[in-house]
This record gives sequence, C-alpha cells and structure tokens, in this order.
Amino acid sequence: MAATSPAYRSHVAIIGGATAGAEAADKLASEGALCVVFEQNDRPYGKVEDGLPRWHAALRRKEYELIDTKLSRDGVHFVPRTAIGRDVHFEDLLRAWGFDLIVLANGAWRDRPLPVDGADAYVGRGLVYQNPLIYWFNHHHEPGYAGARYEIPDGALVIGGGLASIDVVKVLQLVKVRDALAARGIEQDLLAMEAKGIPDTLAKHGLTWDDLGLQGCTLVYRRRIEDMPLTEPPPPGRPDDAVKSATVRRKILEKAQSKFLFRVEPLATPTGLIVEGDRLVGMRFARTRVDEGGSVDVVPGAELELRAPLVVSSIGSIPEPIQGLGMHGELLRIEDHERGKIADFEHVFGCGNVITGKGNLVASRRHSGQVAAHLVQRFNGGTRPGEHTAELLDRVRERQRHVGFDGDYRAWIERVRPDGSS
Ligand SMILES: Cc1cc2nc3c(=O)[nH]c(=O)nc-3n(C[C@H](O)[C@H](O)[C@H](O)COP(=O)(O)OP(=O)(O)OC[C@H]3O[C@@H](n4cnc5c(N)ncnc54)[C@H](O)[C@@H]3O)c2cc1C
Repeated sequence: MAATSPAYRSHVAIIGGATAGAEAADKLASEGALCVVFEQNDRPYGKVEDGLPRWHAALRRKEYELIDTKLSRDGVHFVPRTAIGRDVHFEDLLRAWGFDLIVLANGAWRDRPLPVDGADAYVGRGLVYQNPLIYWFNHHHEPGYAGARYEIPDGALVIGGGLASIDVVKVLQLVKVRDALAARGIEQDLLAMEAKGIPDTLAKHGLTWDDLGLQGCTLVYRRRIEDMPLTEPPPPGRPDDAVKSATVRRKILEKAQSKFLFRVEPLATPTGLIVEGDRLVGMRFARTRVDEGGSVDVVPGAELELRAPLVVSSIGSIPEPIQGLGMHGELLRIEDHERGKIADFEHVFGCGNVITGKGNLVASRRHSGQVAAHLVQRFNGGTRPGEHTAELLDRVRERQRHVGFDGDYRAWIERVRPDGSS
C-alpha cells in the first residue's frame, strides 16, 4: 500500500498516449489532476510512428520529444502494453479503479470500409487498406518485424483524395522506382528520393521515367481536383476564399505529381469489383459531377473500368470500437464535439482524432487542449481523498509491474526502441 500521496484535484484515466493523450495528460496534470495514461503499444507515438510515412523524420522526432516530455512529467503515470477493452475492461476504470473521468485519446485506427459490396473478401488478394500498408512501410525494415508483408506491383490504383492518400501514392511510387533501380544494380536510398523527387533522382543516375518502363499508379477521387481536402479550412469566423483554396489545392497536387509522377482520375466513385479467379484485378467506377451546393451526383450511364494488380483503399480512418463503449454505427456517439463529451456517459470525454476525425496533428493537439481546459472547470475546487489516490496508484503500479514497466518513462522508451528506428 502506498503510504502517502499528494492531494490531487481529480483522478483521470487517459486511453492512448500519443499526440492527443499526451497533451491532455500534460494540461490536466498541470492543473492538479492525477493522470494515468493507458497505451496499448510499447511506445506511445500512435499515428506519428505508424501512420505518418517515415520520411517525415524531422516532424516525427519533434513530436516524439513533445510526447516524451509530457508523459514523463510529475502527475502523469504511464501504463504501456495495456489496451482498454482487452487487458482492462472499460467499465472497470470508473467502477473498480475509481477514476473520476475517462478521456478517450485512442485515435482512428480502423480503415473506413470501401463502400462496394463484397470488397473486403479480397483483402490480401488484390485489395489493401491504408493503415496496414503504411505500418508495413514504416516498420518492415526493422529486425524482428513480424507484421504483414506486401509486394508492391506496378500500376496500382489508390482510392482516396486526402493528404494521406497522396502519401500512399508516394509510398507505392518510391518503392517501385527503388526496386527498378535495384534491378539495374543501383542502390538508391528511398528517403533521399522522397526529398529530391523521382525525376531528379533518376536524372542523377542518367535515367528517365520512360527508361524504367513503369506505368505508375493512379489516384482515383470522387470529386474535382479543386475539392481535394489538401488544405486546412480557415479558422472559425474567417470566410473561405473558394477561388484561392481551389488554386492552392491544384498547386499542391500538381507539385506532388511532378515530383512523384502518378496520375489522377477525378470524378469517379467505386461501384463494383473486377475479379478473376480468387483475386481482385480492378474496379468499376461511376462518373460523378459536383453540383453547386457541393454534393456529388452519379452521372447516369457514365462508367469506367480500371484494371490494376493492386487496389489500395485510402478513404479515411474511424475509431476502433472499445468493448463496453457503445458506438453509433462506425462512430462514437458524441454529444458535444467541442468539449468531447461522449453521449450516455457522464464522465467520459474524447479528444484528438477519435473525435475530430481529421488527419492532422495540430488539430488533434488543439482539440485535446480545449477538452482538457473544459475538464479542469469540472474539478470543482475540491481534492480527492488521499487513501483513494493511494489505492488507485497501487493498482496502477501492479499493472505496470505486470507489463514489465518500472515507472521510469525515459528508461522504458530507451528499452523498447526498435532497432533501426528513430
Ligand atoms: C498517411 C498519413 C499521413 C499523415 N500526415 C500528416 C501530416 O503531414 N501532418 C499532420 O499534421 N498530420 C498528419 N497525419 C495525421 C496525424 O498523424 C494524426 O492526426 C495524429 O497523429 C492523431 O493523433 P491522436 O493522438 O489523436 O491519435 P493517434 O496518434 O492515433 O493516437 C492514439 C493512441 O491510442 C492508442 N490506443 C488505441 N486504442 C487503444 C486502446 N483500446 N487502449 C489503449 N491505447 C489505445 C494507440 O496505440 C495510439 O498510441 C497523417 C496521418 C496519416 C495516416
């Protein structure tokens, strides 16, 4: 039994230790809360490590350091290798453990299903989803990697349209060009090629794209190029300059295409599968148009068939369900987005990607700070009884011991650093 504990204003369980979870822990602990951060993985870096392709090296390092600083501060207790819903029941956090508040910061890890009947039967047989593909790309070179392995063929289709789908296209193009160069006996570092772009890299080797004989991949998007969500909407209160946004979006896409040499097929929405034997070998699409109000309509009778050895679905991510926490279809039942209040639970809030659904670090962090500021107002000025804190910390330490964590955050992070990773 822990002898004495400082007085805390609240006991908060935070599920997920990445950008949003670490920000909430830091803000709440600085206002006198005891924060226990449960993270399912060894490392708490979430999408920064496993979602953002690894060429974002500087951003990754900066985000890792931010997360490390926040999770190693006083008042924050880190519990790795602990998935809520699997290793600890969600309901037990409030009842058995005695937390006053639960903050969901578990992000969005399930790929939104491709909305074509029967598509998921071809996962691994011509169809791949974005999240496992990027996980593979970021980790497959590490010794001891035991996850799924992918062969990247030439001429893949990527269904998407947001920034993440452009990263997917880049991964496919870079891997293919690196392999084509390797087949000619040329060792080319993939991250250096990402920085320079494909044409300049090839020129350095005295080659052109045509010399490689590659077809390249195609990004298929259901709206117009100028509708691609490649820029942040203006802050609340500032009107969107539609013409300027459209120009910026076109420029971002053109720059990516000129550096990575992929094609774009706008105004096409997937409607059917092309299957041969037991493999997906392409997709059928309906042509679309975007009306003045921004709605997408299918153009009757206008269809398109695109054959491809691989289809990658990159149409967004949704939260993984946590057992014990009801969902509304694919999504959490959210009562108040701004405050992150989850419907049907008095003491459960969410922050970051799990609520915003936006693939954006700054948006995740900002939302988390806003939710934490609201929660601080709920502390009511009182303090939690010391014996209650001591009991809770006993449970925390028992779980930490169980997973082999001795309470020293920085030492743990050194210990679980994968070889070959930053
Ligand atoms: C391909 C791609 C490119 C991107 N590029 C950019 C970019 O250039 N710039 C940018 O700003 N953003 C980018 N993003 C988005 C950015 O990475 C995310 O928006 C942000 O990292 C989300 O942070 P989060 O803390 O809300 O969620 P996450 O990072 O997803 O963190 C959730 C954490 O919760 C843990 N967890 C989940 N379930 C449980 C559970 N049941 N119990 C315990 N722990 C759990 C996870 O392991 C994870 O650590 C990109 C994303 C992708 C996929």
